[in-house]
Amino acid sequence: MSEKKIVIVGGVAGGASCAARCRRLDESARILMLDRGPHVSFANCGLPYYVGGIIDDESKLLIANPALFKDRFNIEARTGNEVLSIDTAAREVEVKELASGRLYREPYDALVLSPGASPVRPPLPGIDLPGIFVVRTVPDSRRIREWIDQKNAKSAVIIGAGFIGLEMAENLVLRGLSVTIVEMLNQVMPPFDPEMARPIQEHMERHGVKLALGDGVAGFDSAAGQLVVNTQSGARHTADLVILAIGVRPETALAKAAGLQVGQRGGIRVDEQMRTSDARIWAVGDAVEVRDLVTGDWTLLALAGPANRQGRIAADAICGRNSKFCGVQGTAVCGIFGLTVAGTGASEKSLQRASVTGYETVYLHPSNHAGYYPGAKPINIKLIFRKSDGRILGAQAVGEADVDKRIDVIATAIQFGGTVFDLEESELCYAPQFGGAKDPVNYAGMIAANSIRGDVLLADWRHVPLSDSFLLDVRDPEEFETSHVPGAINLPLNRIRHRLAELPRDRELFIYCGVGQRGYYAARLLSQKGFRVKNLSGGYRTYRLLAPANSIASS
Ligand SMILES: Cc1cc2nc3c(=O)[nH]c(=O)nc-3n(C[C@H](O)[C@H](O)[C@H](O)COP(=O)(O)OP(=O)(O)OC[C@H]3O[C@@H](n4cnc5c(N)ncnc54)[C@H](O)[C@@H]3O)c2cc1C
Repeated sequence: MSEKKIVIVGGVAGGASCAARCRRLDESARILMLDRGPHVSFANCGLPYYVGGIIDDESKLLIANPALFKDRFNIEARTGNEVLSIDTAAREVEVKELASGRLYREPYDALVLSPGASPVRPPLPGIDLPGIFVVRTVPDSRRIREWIDQKNAKSAVIIGAGFIGLEMAENLVLRGLSVTIVEMLNQVMPPFDPEMARPIQEHMERHGVKLALGDGVAGFDSAAGQLVVNTQSGARHTADLVILAIGVRPETALAKAAGLQVGQRGGIRVDEQMRTSDARIWAVGDAVEVRDLVTGDWTLLALAGPANRQGRIAADAICGRNSKFCGVQGTAVCGIFGLTVAGTGASEKSLQRASVTGYETVYLHPSNHAGYYPGAKPINIKLIFRKSDGRILGAQAVGEADVDKRIDVIATAIQFGGTVFDLEESELCYAPQFGGAKDPVNYAGMIAANSIRGDVLLADWRHVPLSDSFLLDVRDPEEFETSHVPGAINLPLNRIRHRLAELPRDRELFIYCGVGQRGYYAARLLSQKGFRVKNLSGGYRTYRLLAPANSIASS
């Protein structure tokens, strides 16, 4: 029997992991990996840090090269070779050697497409002006570095406030540039819910980044040697360079031309084994549509982890194994000026888009480790779960330390179909410098589980008519005097038992404290005394995340 020939288009995250796994499973296969770029297996995720100079040696971004693929894995990696088309009937790809222009054909028994996604470049006036960059490849980031050096650039406008936009903002500030971010939405970090994005925005502004939110780009021109970004509101932002970070689009041209099925989200449609509508062709990575584990909908997700896992699963399928891709939950993290921003699963926005109802949210603001141990930092956490059975749907967290660890735990729980009752019971690492005897993850589970069990009813600040409700602030008087919600009555937790007569029995009481804990104690006390009470989730700190500055009163 002749050896199997596996051809892989794209030699980075999905493609390279597929190639290496194919070799581990089949020593006799001929494996050819084609990439039109100058590199295989480079660290796209490190590019912003190369621009910023944290990674200063370009070679550090090159994780493997064709020689290593040959020597270690007996894989032929051909860079500078672009696949132009697929002949599915003949089972051949047509390839162009870019340096010489030579065209040739390569037959395959199994073909894997991992062409990635290309940065969106909307056809706006002036989009091709020199100095407007995208960040996808090592040469892209080298060009940005060179431009900054040659032009002695002092300012940049970044279009788009997603992960790449924020990472680029930090790195350009590190290089001494003054940075403005223009974002069409009213918030940074579009996958997040707006109230969770608020501390990120404040943090960025504290680090000197100017945010022009709620304003789309209308076009570009140049004046006095600088680029000008014109926005839909009529604003004009001048800068020495512009970074486009407004998202990516799956590279599907090859697949479409070959007649492969493409889904309604615009990605290549694959089954659980990453097989396309052609039985000999697999597709992985940013180019494919995947199932959202939480909503069950098809979605696109441009992240390195899923691309690597999918590459492995396609290799398994090609080599006769029955591995299956279980879907994505969008677990992602980003660091911005010392703040860690991480999320997993559904946001409220995504649930609303998918018309999912019957969920509840809790907010909490625990410390990353025991408060008595020096250096404790708060983490803002939002947990979303199904009310009927406590199934965890998603979580977002923002803070200066150990945020990723909490989101990773919750991500694993979501993957295993876990509930808030599981979080309540999770046994996690604890010593004073690492966590709490009740970890923030346990707290999140306990608060949610208490609500489901009816031990304490939670209220969401966004749904309580503040002007009309009986708001009971159970913090200490000094805290109340510093600032409080307008109209709230202050009755400190420690005094409640002695002053029950002051509270109305014919109205529902909405209780809040600093972060929700004293409110919980008060709610338990008062409900056992026959009062109708709800604890406002996350307390005053959540109110501050949600409320516009003018609805905060101080005495
Ligand atoms: C700046 C930046 C930062 C990122 N940071 C993170 C992060 O922190 N965490 C994270 O999880 N993800 C991050 N990502 C996303 C992550 O890099 C991608 O999800 C992942 O690389 C996708 O893998 P892929 O194999 O689908 O595509 P890619 O890694 O993009 O590889 C596709 C390759 O295919 C080649 N190709 C395309 N068409 C052809 C053709 N016709 N013929 C030959 N070759 C072709 C391209 O040249 C490219 O080299 C980042 C991405 C960028 C750009």
